[in-house]
Amino acid sequence: PYEVLIVGGGPAGASAAVYAARKGIRTGIVAERFGGQVADTMSIENFISVKETDGPKMVANLEQHVLQYDVDLMNSQKARKLHPASVDTDGTPTNLIEVELESGARLKSRSVILATGARWREMNVPGEQEYRGRGVAYCPHCDGPLFKGKRVAVIGGGNSGIEAAIDLAGLVEHVTVLEFADTLRADEVLVRKAKSLKNVTIIKEAMTTEVTGDGKRVNGLNYIDRATQEAQHIELAGIFVQIGLVPNTEWLKGDIELSERGEIVVDTKGHTSLPGVFAAGDVTTVPYKQIIIAMGAGSGAALGAFDHLIRTPVP
Ligand code: FAD
Repeated sequence: PYEVLIVGGGPAGASAAVYAARKGIRTGIVAERFGGQVADTMSIENFISVKETDGPKMVANLEQHVLQYDVDLMNSQKARKLHPASVDTDGTPTNLIEVELESGARLKSRSVILATGARWREMNVPGEQEYRGRGVAYCPHCDGPLFKGKRVAVIGGGNSGIEAAIDLAGLVEHVTVLEFADTLRADEVLVRKAKSLKNVTIIKEAMTTEVTGDGKRVNGLNYIDRATQEAQHIELAGIFVQIGLVPNTEWLKGDIELSERGEIVVDTKGHTSLPGVFAAGDVTTVPYKQIIIAMGAGSGAALGAFDHLIRTPVP
């Protein structure tokens, strides 16, 4: 059995693996796709101390760093069920935690770190995939500066959409917010702030139907005005899709405490509601989903797991 078994091979999982392995304890990492969201990222300019890199380079570096240590890396393996340990009346575990894979295999461990990340909800309209990373963006903190002085749209009028619009308004020439409903779901204070900005326009009852481009990059989008049923076109250089970040926790429902949004509830040491089970990164309730934050949380969860192991008898 493992002492620490990590599920997820993004920045959080990789960082947890390095920290756990450096304690000299038996460490395993199961990942559906090693690298996680980083593998889909074009340019990374906010990973402090590395001025600029790209996703594939960072994934290769993560893998090299993890494999520098004695870590069992099980790539292309998906977890489908967590079987928590039973505990006796004083909280001592009476058996090991098990992670069941899609292949049917069951991995046993004294502690588990969940780092299965999240995925951006997509619009599912023509052009979105084609121009992903070529004008279609999901992270204003990451890609906002690439659109300096240009016209962009933000899709979604919830808190993340309106926050993105306010953030981008300071960088770009103009921001158009498109909201499907006839009201904005964002907090009133954010809506007021966005409305006070001269270079932000908010359009409600707008159903985005297509991302348009010149074959190389985005040049606009089409939407239907739901009030009049008229088709409209806006010329733009970029589109920020802000209609939700979905945590990869479908496989954990019912076994562990999740927030309303489906995120794993963690405390500052990465503890979850289950003894011996820790979580880190975008899959958790941690605010702000970024590489550097996921890595910090992954190392914290590994140290939390180590703390737990030295205090808990081997079942
Ligand atoms: P993830 O990176 O999502 O990794 C999750 C891991 O879990 C993956 O290995 C996945 O395959 C695995 N997994 C999921 N489910 C299972 C399962 N059931 N069984 C086994 N494995 C599973 N952040 C920045 O700081 N700077 C940027 O420039 C930046 N740009 C971005 C650009 C794009 C296009 C995207 C999508 C995100 C960007 N981000 C950026 C955000 C950043 O990538 C994430 O915050 C970060 O990757 C989160 O790390 P994580 O380890 O928590 O999760």
